[in-house]
Amino acid sequence: MESSSPVVRVRDLHKSYGSFEALGGISFDISAGETFALLGPNGAGKSTAIEILEGYRDRSSGEVSVLGVDPQRAGRAWKARLGIVLQSTGESGNVTVTEQLNHFAGLYPNPRRVSEVIDAVGLASKAKTRISRLSGGQRRRVDVALGIIGRPELLFLDEPTTGFDPEARHQFWDLVRRLKAEGTTILLTTHYLDEAAQLGDRAGVINDGRLIDIGTIAEIGGAEARVPLVRWRDAGGALHEVRTEEPARIVAGLAAAGGEPADLEVIRPSLEAVYLGLVRDHRTNGNADNNENGNSTTAGPVGATSDEEVLA
Ligand code: ADP
Repeated sequence: MESSSPVVRVRDLHKSYGSFEALGGISFDISAGETFALLGPNGAGKSTAIEILEGYRDRSSGEVSVLGVDPQRAGRAWKARLGIVLQSTGESGNVTVTEQLNHFAGLYPNPRRVSEVIDAVGLASKAKTRISRLSGGQRRRVDVALGIIGRPELLFLDEPTTGFDPEARHQFWDLVRRLKAEGTTILLTTHYLDEAAQLGDRAGVINDGRLIDIGTIAEIGGAEARVPLVRWRDAGGALHEVRTEEPARIVAGLAAAGGEPADLEVIRPSLEAVYLGLVRDHRTNGNADNNENGNSTTAGPVGATSDEEVLA
C-alpha cells in the first residue's frame, strides 16, 4: 500500500435493513496515523458503519477499502492488522489478566509483549487477578489490552471509556496518545465530546445515516459556530452578552470605561456545544445534504451553556 493512500476509504456507503435505510450514502477517508472521531446520536448509524469497516456486516452499496482491502472479501491476515475494542465484550472468564492476554497474543503474528500491554493499560497490580474479580472499569482496560495486543495498524475504539472514573479516563487518553505516537491509526466513537476533542485530529458527525459535517476538531460546525462570546454584568447587575471575533477589544473597552465588570468571561463554544448545535439544526431543518467538505454553513450554537469553555 502506498503511504499516501488512506487507511480507510469510504465512498457513498449505503446500508439498508429491509426497507429501513440506516446509512444513506456516506463518504470519508482516514489517513495513516490519524485519529478520527465518529460522532452522532444513538441510532445515527455509527455502529453500522464501523461494523462494515470491520468486516462484520455487508454493505448494501458503495465502496469501502480498509488497509487497502475490501472488508467484505478480506481474510484472516487482514483481520490480524486490526485492533477492535467493542462497546462491551463483557469479558469475564476464570483466567487471569496475564493468561488471557497470553492466549490472545498467540493469535497474532507480531504481538506486543504482554507485560508491556498490561503496564500500558494500568493493570500491573492486577496481572495475576482473575478477570471475573475485576471491577467494570478494570475489565474495560482488559478489553483495550486485547484490542492492542496484536500491534494493530488500525484500532477501532467504540466508546472506550464508558464507566471510567476521571483519573482512569485521563490515563486512557495518555495510552491512546502513545499508540498514536507509534503511528497507529485510530477510529474512535464516543459520546464524550471532550474525549473527541482531546484525542481526535478530525471528526465526522453522522445523523440519520448522513454525514452532516466532517473536518478538523477546530473546523467542525464552521467558523460561525466558533465565534466567542463576551459576557459581563454592569454596575446595575444587568447581564450583557456580545458575540464577537474581537473579544479583546470588548474587554479593553470595558476596562477603559473604568471599574472591573462583574462576572466577566470570554467563552469559546466547546466541541460539545458545536456538536449539539449541528445535530439540532439538522433535525430542525430536516436537512439531508451530505456535507463532505467541512465547510458547513450550518449556523452554530449561540449563547453560553455550562459545557462551554471559559477562557478568561
Ligand atoms: P448508532 O451506532 O449510531 O447508535 P446503529 O448503526 O446501531 O446506530 O443503528 C442505526 C439505525 O439502524 C438505527 O435506527 C437502528 O435501529 C437500525 N439498526 C441497526 N441494526 C439493525 C438491524 N440489525 N436490523 C434492523 N435495524 C437495525
